[in-house]
Amino acid sequence: MLVCSRCGREYPETFRLTCDCGGTFLVEREYYDFFGNLLPYLDMRRYLNFIPIGGNYLPPAIPAITPVGALQMGPVIALFKLEYLQPSGSFKDRGTYVTVAKLMEEGIHEVVLDSSGNAALSMALYSLPAGITAHIFVSYDVMLEKLSLLQRLGAVLNFVDGDRMAVHERAMEFAENNGVTYVSHWLNPYFLEGTKTTAFEAYEQVGVPDYLFAPVGSGTLFLGLWKGFKELQEMGEIDRLPTFVAVQASGYESLCERSPIKNHLADGIAIPEPPRLGEMERVLDETGGRCVSVSEAETGEALSWLTRAGFLVEPTSAVVLAALWKLVDMGEIPDGSKVLLPLTGSGLKITEGI
Ligand SMILES: [Zn+2]
Repeated sequence: MLVCSRCGREYPETFRLTCDCGGTFLVEREYYDFFGNLLPYLDMRRYLNFIPIGGNYLPPAIPAITPVGALQMGPVIALFKLEYLQPSGSFKDRGTYVTVAKLMEEGIHEVVLDSSGNAALSMALYSLPAGITAHIFVSYDVMLEKLSLLQRLGAVLNFVDGDRMAVHERAMEFAENNGVTYVSHWLNPYFLEGTKTTAFEAYEQVGVPDYLFAPVGSGTLFLGLWKGFKELQEMGEIDRLPTFVAVQASGYESLCERSPIKNHLADGIAIPEPPRLGEMERVLDETGGRCVSVSEAETGEALSWLTRAGFLVEPTSAVVLAALWKLVDMGEIPDGSKVLLPLTGSGLKITEGI
């Protein structure tokens, strides 16, 4: 069932983004026997028994199981999970896969979304072979490379003259006037059902890390990781959760105190008012975690280190390393700790601005 995170009201598992009270949903189901219910696939379908979709409508494109690169970094062990190796080049493929499966299950063949970044690319890639038309609203300042990729993936592009908010409003109008389903990964509860598999995989690969650093804008990876580890705990598979560290871009903080100086490099998490803020605050409380804000200079330094180490990621992905360096310098991470750092987006899509 879907459960409202604000008022607790329960709904059936249809494709629905918000409660009548305006609150966001989590899918709640009871799972048991983690290892007994894994399926013999070498991709994300391995976890289908823990994902709330029927097996009859699975998207033809499938997210990968991503490797973990372990590196001793000063006194701690950094475990880089290479989410940027997903088919569309970002972690978002996991959430998109479950979303598209749910849309197929409900017979929805047309969606609209307002994004020009990884979310749009991912939706276009999974929609095309599934026979779903993706209407994507973007502003005129989007990079040409991204537009051309979206077009190659069959997306229907709609240009809006205005800022991010104007793009959002026009997409909503289009959805309402044409009866097309609006898909927002910020709100969509099924998206988190995909991103939670990152936790299942990491658990199989490296056990329960002591710390988990995730970039936080809308929080779709952060909350998915929490949900995955939480479900493992509820299944009796693990007895503790990692300490969650939310990493934010300076100038756009929602959990940390807002800084006056903006980090323009980490544009993937430049989301100052995420709708799931309360849920993220609860995760920090529950796991004894904290938030860390990272500047543009710190992001650039970490990005350059990652590139030289052979991790070709986009700037937003580098914030987790910058935050780790910061907390290690402050003496906040005990020696020998295992720290999971998902690297979220590929650097191959970015050809300018770095
Ligand atoms: Zn509610």
